[in-house]
Amino acid sequence: AERAALEAWTGPAATADGVPLQLLANVADGASSLRASDEPVDGVGLFRTELCFLDRAEEPAVEEQADIYAAVLNPFRDRGHVVVRTLDAGSDKPIAFATHEGEENPALGVRGLRLSFGNPGLMERQLDAIALAAERTGADAWVMAPMVATVAEAQDFAGLVRSRGLKAGVMVEVPSAALLAHQMLEVVDFLSIGTNDLTQYTLAADRMATDLAHLTDPWQPAVLQLIAITAHAGVEAGKPVGVCGEAAADPLLATALVGMGVTSLSMAARAVRGVGSQLARVTMDACEAAAEAALSARDPRAGREAVRRVLAG
Ligand code: PEP
Ligand code: MG
Repeated sequence: AERAALEAWTGPAATADGVPLQLLANVADGASSLRASDEPVDGVGLFRTELCFLDRAEEPAVEEQADIYAAVLNPFRDRGHVVVRTLDAGSDKPIAFATHEGEENPALGVRGLRLSFGNPGLMERQLDAIALAAERTGADAWVMAPMVATVAEAQDFAGLVRSRGLKAGVMVEVPSAALLAHQMLEVVDFLSIGTNDLTQYTLAADRMATDLAHLTDPWQPAVLQLIAITAHAGVEAGKPVGVCGEAAADPLLATALVGMGVTSLSMAARAVRGVGSQLARVTMDACEAAAEAALSARDPRAGREAVRRVLAG
């Protein structure tokens, strides 16, 4: 029966009592965007642009970048919006033409927004290419920056994005950004919580270290507290706050995230039906109770059990 319900769910995403939600896809290139458009998604919540350049020795020219981005925007030209993330180079995703060599501590080094800003013109050229692709396809492109730590960074980034006529947002992946979510939302149009890095930086545990898996778990109550602060700031500001890390693909955790006030969940396209069918079975009140239970749990295992109990009624 579970399986049949999953196959049968075709959206639109909403709770059992009809509160609308957005389920979005994480994509890496034109091909994965096209595949995602076959699923019942409301748009793209995370296009990881750096994945297009892993094998490039040189930075592609603006025209070539625009072609690459247009292929991702095109399948969604008449459907929702596409969140394009500027280059998240460095640390676990080294890019030959951008990454600083020989850093002692690359996860805490010049990566993401820091790298694009530190490399003259790199950010501006990428934004020019994204704006060109948006203009050519007619798609609703939103642009966000990875690894933002300060409000000043968010403000500088938003200025560049808006001067090109696009919506600007930042990722919440560093605890400082979550704690300052309210101020961040005074200078940007939306936030997107990257739970993979937010967990890594909150627990001080390398996301790639398999022997630290008990720490790099988004059910860790400290991570959930930071997500709740961020979501709450979004509700107060009346601006969208999404989750685009792995946490969004966990149907059980998705109910708690929605209960915290998150307005969209972005995940691998294949996970969308499972999350959509789970959310369709629970009311907003139950989601809020799930959030409460997960936030007050002592550890990830207790959080999962408590949310299961709450949803079982
Ligand atoms: C994240 O950190 O949760 C995220 C979505 O970005 P990435 O996994 O690409 O670092
Ligand atoms: Mg990240």
